[in-house]
Amino acid sequence: MTSPAASASRLVDPARLLDRLTARGAEGCLTHVQRVPARVGRTVPWPDWVPSELRELLAARGITAPWSHQEAAATLAHSGTHVVVSTGTGSGKSLAYQLPVLASLLADPRATALYLAPTKALAADQLRGLDALAPGGVRPAVYDGDTSREEREWVRAHSRLVLTNPDMLHRGILPRHDTWSGYLRRLRYVVVDECHTYRGVFGSHVAHVLRRLRRVCARYGSAPVFILASATAGDPATAAGRLVGLPVTPVTEDGSPRGAVTFALWEPPLLPGLGEGAGDAAPIRRSALREAADLLADAIVHGARTLAFVRSRRGAEVVATMARRVLAESVPELADRVAAYRAGYLREERREIERALLSGELLGLASTNALELGVDLVGLDAVVLTGYPGTLASMWQQAGRAGRAGRESLCVLVARDDPLDSYLVHHPVALFERPVEATVLDPGNPYVLGPHLCCAAAELPLTPADLELFGGAVAQSTVNTLVTGGALRRRPSGWYWTAKERPDVDLRGTGGGPVAIVESATGRLLGTVDAGSAHVQVHSGAVHLHQGRSYVVDELDLEDGVALVHAEEPDWSTHPRDVTNVSVVSVDSYVDAGPVGLFLGTVEVTGQVVSYQRRRIGTGEILDTRPLDLPPRQLRTTAVWWTISPGALASAGVDWPVVPGALHAAEHASIGLLPLVATCDRWDIGGLSTAMHPDTDAPTVFVYDGHPGGAGFAERAYHAAGDWLRATRETIASCACETGCPSCVQSPKCGNGNDPLAKAEAVRVLDALLAALPPG
Ligand SMILES: [Zn+2]
Ligand SMILES: [Zn+2]
Repeated sequence: MTSPAASASRLVDPARLLDRLTARGAEGCLTHVQRVPARVGRTVPWPDWVPSELRELLAARGITAPWSHQEAAATLAHSGTHVVVSTGTGSGKSLAYQLPVLASLLADPRATALYLAPTKALAADQLRGLDALAPGGVRPAVYDGDTSREEREWVRAHSRLVLTNPDMLHRGILPRHDTWSGYLRRLRYVVVDECHTYRGVFGSHVAHVLRRLRRVCARYGSAPVFILASATAGDPATAAGRLVGLPVTPVTEDGSPRGAVTFALWEPPLLPGLGEGAGDAAPIRRSALREAADLLADAIVHGARTLAFVRSRRGAEVVATMARRVLAESVPELADRVAAYRAGYLREERREIERALLSGELLGLASTNALELGVDLVGLDAVVLTGYPGTLASMWQQAGRAGRAGRESLCVLVARDDPLDSYLVHHPVALFERPVEATVLDPGNPYVLGPHLCCAAAELPLTPADLELFGGAVAQSTVNTLVTGGALRRRPSGWYWTAKERPDVDLRGTGGGPVAIVESATGRLLGTVDAGSAHVQVHSGAVHLHQGRSYVVDELDLEDGVALVHAEEPDWSTHPRDVTNVSVVSVDSYVDAGPVGLFLGTVEVTGQVVSYQRRRIGTGEILDTRPLDLPPRQLRTTAVWWTISPGALASAGVDWPVVPGALHAAEHASIGLLPLVATCDRWDIGGLSTAMHPDTDAPTVFVYDGHPGGAGFAERAYHAAGDWLRATRETIASCACETGCPSCVQSPKCGNGNDPLAKAEAVRVLDALLAALPPG
């Protein structure tokens, strides 16, 4: 196992890549190297209940014995216990559910099972694996938005193992449960794959879809066993239990082997001569995208199969394009062996790219997100993380794409110009010695619960006994509100949905369907963006990148959900400006610390994209600002906010004219650091700072959840305010820049073009704040 036969790829020497990094590290950029040791695998014998037919099929695919975690989870599920298996990427979690599900479908020719994946791509992947294993008569089949009408009828009538996603369960299956009654009556297992992705508001939605499924099943007399698979996460049993609403037993000891990984932390160098007067958008550090593109190109030259994770769609396109350009100059024949891959591509494009990487036609891929990638895409030689992915759980999941048993691999985390990233590459303890976060979801969010109670009532009248399933007291009070509002009607036999049409609920919480990006001249569909980001990403005049090609948006039609574009490669980029107002609706909790106040409560946020700037690529020179005519968006959500008296600011040495800049700088940095204490990323939250707010009558900084009703992030920030604000202060104070940079107080999503900002004064404000707040 230790020496891969002088293999197809000649390199595969992560040490050489690391050497190259170290050489460049002379510039002081390699901040830390961590060796993650190899793990030895542990197999156990097949449990007696696994039928020989299944063992033979598995043996034919090279699986002669299960890893210990696969057996443990499978046997628990087989015995009727709800189970969550939470182990690393590539540890073979699929087998943990395949064993009990297929054994049960074999033993009872009428039994059925349901498999849920968060994405269509993953369901299609699983189908390929099941096709090879499923005994005759099981007929595994995908049932999703891409399934044709005739196929759907066939699946309903004949498949005993249906693969779908929560959205389809919610919109397509539960509302027509009567046509599925035969299938649901015989349902033995429900598999919830990648269950850690059901977090925040989306997680709360899915939790209620699963409760609705359980209720409908109970009506038909079935009570399926739940098998959940999660990436490595803190306390998976609690999160899984909240998701399905049942006690769940965890299996967390990973019995699969893996190779050692060298983990390098990399901070791009400061560029000389780009300080004062270089234009508002001039980068101060070399961009993480450029570093990632160079690393990707290097790795490809060495023959290493490499995956670069990039946070934004646009970033993935840019990294692929730049890597291609680097290769075109150095080793031209390799230039077309790198591609971009992201959510929003059409299914055919995704399949084609996956196939090319698996076959070795492609050596490098710049990808937005692990989730859209096929599960087979593991065992790579190197992974480049362009920026911290927001949580340790996702960091380890992305890193897990590299490394095969008996082989060394390399993972490089390239810090973006961002306060959290710069904090982490200088505090490796916070990466390597902190436990992986728990998945946060809150099924009690009334904004989520209410609509699902309506869906449930439309499926089958709600009875008082049902309310226990949906959360007890909170469900009762939500039902009362729905009755008062006329959505539900009370009858002797329960609560009924009153309208003719079905309730409309969007699980992804983006408010409306995705916006299609269409090329005006040809009518060709290029891809989609979700409705929530359409105002920002594809407003009229925006420059939009797709597969490395540049388009300019002619018109965003919100009514029809279409952005019309034409191909054009202008030498400017576009930057939308957002105007935000916050008003306080209620205060739920507060700390009165004399001149300082800390609050948690409900706020109403009004946001509007009003204009955009065009900036020259390369220099950042502002060409012009153009107005936009987009409607405002309303958001009622949870916020944490702090106030500080003008007197305290004066004694801290912050003169009144710089107060707006000091607060704004502190706001930006604190939003950047919030993911340190809550499982969110900075794009899940918003902020507002003001030298005088009408509702608080004081200088105030608000930080709010970007989802209706909140997602639990601001609440975490309130309870961990000391740690959060201390890390914020430390990040700003220790940043080497003069007057503020993206690694400390500038924000990439600032609606005010990062103006005004006062770095030194922000530190003084935070000092005053921390001195006044009681410890803990
Ligand atoms: Zn800085
Ligand atoms: Zn700002």
